[in-house]
Amino acid sequence: VIDLGTPTRSVKTTCAYCGVGCSFVAELRGDQLVRMVPDKDGGANAGHSCVKGRFAWGYATHRDRQLEPMVRGSIADEWRVVSWDEAIAYAAERFLAIQRDHGVGAIGGITSSRCTNEEVYVVQKMIRAAFGNNNVDTCARVCHSPTGYGLKQTFGTSAGTQDFESVAHSDVIVVIGANPTDGHPVFASRMKKRLRAGAKLIVIDPRRIDLVRSPHVEAAYHLQLQPGTNVAIVNAIAHVVVTEGLVDRDFVAARCEDDSFAQWETFIAQPENSPEALEAVTGVPAADVRAAARLFATGGNAAIYYGLGVTEHSQGSTMVMGMANLAMATGNIGRTGVGVNPLRGQNNVQGSCDMGSFPHELPGYRHVSDPAVRGIFEAVWGRAIDPEPGLRIPNMLDAAIAGRYLGMFIQGEDIAQSDPNVQHVKAALGSLELLVVQDLFLNETAKFAHVFLPGTSFLEKDGTFTNAERRINRVRPVMASATGKQEWEVACELATAMGYPMSYVQSAEIMDEIAATTPTFAGVSFDRLDAEGSVQWPCNDAAPHGTPIMHVDGFVRGKGHFVETPYVPTDERTNRKFPLILTTGRILSQYNVGAQTRRTENVRWHSEDVVEVHPHDAETRGIATGQAVTITSRVGETVLRARVTDRVPQGVVYTTFHFPGSGANVVTTEYSDWATNCPEYKVTAVELAPTSRT
Ligand code: SF4
Repeated sequence: VIDLGTPTRSVKTTCAYCGVGCSFVAELRGDQLVRMVPDKDGGANAGHSCVKGRFAWGYATHRDRQLEPMVRGSIADEWRVVSWDEAIAYAAERFLAIQRDHGVGAIGGITSSRCTNEEVYVVQKMIRAAFGNNNVDTCARVCHSPTGYGLKQTFGTSAGTQDFESVAHSDVIVVIGANPTDGHPVFASRMKKRLRAGAKLIVIDPRRIDLVRSPHVEAAYHLQLQPGTNVAIVNAIAHVVVTEGLVDRDFVAARCEDDSFAQWETFIAQPENSPEALEAVTGVPAADVRAAARLFATGGNAAIYYGLGVTEHSQGSTMVMGMANLAMATGNIGRTGVGVNPLRGQNNVQGSCDMGSFPHELPGYRHVSDPAVRGIFEAVWGRAIDPEPGLRIPNMLDAAIAGRYLGMFIQGEDIAQSDPNVQHVKAALGSLELLVVQDLFLNETAKFAHVFLPGTSFLEKDGTFTNAERRINRVRPVMASATGKQEWEVACELATAMGYPMSYVQSAEIMDEIAATTPTFAGVSFDRLDAEGSVQWPCNDAAPHGTPIMHVDGFVRGKGHFVETPYVPTDERTNRKFPLILTTGRILSQYNVGAQTRRTENVRWHSEDVVEVHPHDAETRGIATGQAVTITSRVGETVLRARVTDRVPQGVVYTTFHFPGSGANVVTTEYSDWATNCPEYKVTAVELAPTSRT
């Protein structure tokens, strides 16, 4: 706690960083924020917080914030500060001109998982109703879109199955492609508490993350697989379950489809899915895989927690379905202590997906091609909705370079730093006739913008975030908007200027509209959240108190659906020129591209990204800790300092992505998940060499 004086009043709100969604009490003296205290009544954090959330308020008042709208004719021009009215009229006029000259589909936009549900809902509505197309996508495209796809195929809805409290009832915890200690610290504390009390831990990760061996916690098994071989490992585990008679036949018979289970069982029992057959692929001893599989299937309540190390692969969606298969086959779904649980990176990535940010889905994950669903929204919005899915972010970028997509609205997202192969992203942004960026800071993406609309920090917002356990938390204004507007007001004004009148008196009205159009939110209102603190969706007549655990009596889709998950190697291969695999992750003190945390006290603990190199690989290249090294891939080259460590295995190097300029995404490729186009950030073939450049 930072204490700057004696507070005279307080406001409860929610952290705007990770998907844990910790509640805080902001204490003020008059209008001056004096400290942020973790809320002991917080449903997700019960009085705990991490070093990110504790200092988050620093960026809200940082001198780098751009508080006035700006426009410029081209990116070669100087910015010109203008009034809100002028900025909105300018953006509207240029969007409309592009549509006149190039067609309705030549514009679109991206929503932000850092914004509130209400802000996201209004932007997707603006695009569908005012832009007149479905060219809306979300930054979840580049993180958890495979979660959305995979869990919907198998279970019927795109969300994690458990509340955080559930982990206290797990006997076996599997952590796959996640580093909760750094990425989700408050939840990691809950998990460690359970592990210290005797639960067994299986870590599946190429890197020796903190959980593998930390004070009083030691993994029973660390399956240290080669990056890119997740599906091979999950298939090998499932093979053991099936061939050693460990399937929960009663659960499968009662809760899952007979046909899809039978097909999957035949597929997974094939010898090529055995741990022995896949040992050369994964690099994991078959005996360890067999032992871990037996522990998972017979050790009591077994829960899977996973992160971007699962999703950000060419087979990200396949892996999500592979984990769902495993949970169903062993009966580990539908009660406390079990489940399949994505650890969401951003505060509102669950919410931004719930709110209809995907080009094929309206709010509540309902396909735009369904006339009955469109009818619900058309009746409320008073506009016809295009039945055709729109463009995903990678399609938008490709279409921009091809000259078919010329206008873009980006809400709180820095794709020129966060998306893979930033050279390609910058080429696409530079091809646009109009780029409108709404953000707190003039970020890397804003360098290509023609209109800058200042955004509000979480301390100025009035709305809700939905965390990784589907918990809808209130975000309350601690201070007045520094820009004079809420972000949803800006989207309303832009839509209105483009000929689609849109207005709300307050953000509570937006949630009322969400509840009226989206069955899983039917019981949600600001009044209810203010009275009860938070609620987990689905919350409606069928679940009046919300839903901490999903799929209890039946899956959302009815019977659980098994999917065959053949392992297919990525096309990104090592060779003599690029013999190492680069993979990426996060560090405790920083958040994503660092735009916020770099402007807080947190920068003191981590001021640059470094690349971790195994001692053998370092020695053969003459690399020492602290040495600047060139990292070269097929798409680019960057320079970072090295840290020599055996946390990474030989042949694998690792870095974080919190700093602009020399970041990892200069070298990451455009390979992506086959189902969702989520980029394959976790596997890039590279070579390292010492350099005198810095
Ligand atoms: Fe909680 Fe995550 Fe914020 Fe840390 S960053 S305080 S764990 S919500």
